[in-house]
Amino acid sequence: MERPLACWKGEERYEGEVLPSLTIILKTGGCRHNRCRMCSYRHERYSSGVALEKLLLSQLEWVVHHHPLSEVAIVKLYTSGSFFDPDEVPAAVVEEAARLFSGKLVIAETRPEFVDPARIEAFIAEIDSGEYPTPLYVAIGLETSNDRIREKSIDKGFSWLDFRHAVECARKGGAGVKAYLLHKPPFLTEKEALLDMEQSIRDCAGLADILSMNPCTVQRYTELEYYWKRGAYRPPYLWSVLAALLSAPVPVHCDPVGGGRARGPHNCGRCDYGIVSALREYNLTEDSQLLVEAFATECACREEWESVLSLEKPFCMPLTR
Ligand code: SF4
Ligand SMILES: [Zn+2]
Repeated sequence: MERPLACWKGEERYEGEVLPSLTIILKTGGCRHNRCRMCSYRHERYSSGVALEKLLLSQLEWVVHHHPLSEVAIVKLYTSGSFFDPDEVPAAVVEEAARLFSGKLVIAETRPEFVDPARIEAFIAEIDSGEYPTPLYVAIGLETSNDRIREKSIDKGFSWLDFRHAVECARKGGAGVKAYLLHKPPFLTEKEALLDMEQSIRDCAGLADILSMNPCTVQRYTELEYYWKRGAYRPPYLWSVLAALLSAPVPVHCDPVGGGRARGPHNCGRCDYGIVSALREYNLTEDSQLLVEAFATECACREEWESVLSLEKPFCMPLTR
């Protein structure tokens, strides 16, 4: 049997309840876009010419063999790109996944151009057992509501309007929408990144059903890593992460991957552990008091963060050649 790239059990908060979840990262034909500056997942792909359908079906078989699905309520399906891109994940694999995960609440990641109402509807018809009012959420890495930042800092290749159109298509097919936002892509000051996140959350509140903020981490073999190694990028302070969540008008999920490490969102090293623990607990409880208390942590680096916010200046690109 072929192993998926990763597969683990966890917990996920949904409609006020904490439910057992299974996260699956499938190895696929790879992301068609394949360009984002901070992304290393795009390197995880089968080479062309392999029997993609057979390999993917074998990964699904591995999943059900190693994780009894009866113990799981939520299935989170990630690929190294888009689950609903038929070139990346053949139709027969999507159909088999729908059959296997029938009765579960499925969250499947995809770029907006692959949110097709008819395919979404067909997938839902297969998984829907009546247990959940919205049995499928399409998860879209919007990253920011700002087109300029999405284009220049990330090279994401789609616009805010494309995202809004995908939201409409998802709803037409009967699915909900989860939007991922990226806190501090490259080329932004700490302050610019914080303002961008606060604005993005406000723009998405009421549009996406679930909002998730990913503080940026430096992944290997990426353009972002190139800048980071030369001192031209620093991941966001955990203070900024807390500030963005505290100012959010709606609950926002945030599991700070690599929190407290040099490649992940971090403060000075002394106060990081407590803040990351508070963020993890907040993720499951949505108790904003945890954020308030974490933000009140006494540490010398708080002053450093405030200075960075007020003093850091953006670098300018020349407008002409
Ligand atoms: S972030 Fe998503 S869209 Fe961008 S290259 Fe990576 S997998 Fe593709
Ligand atoms: Zn500190």
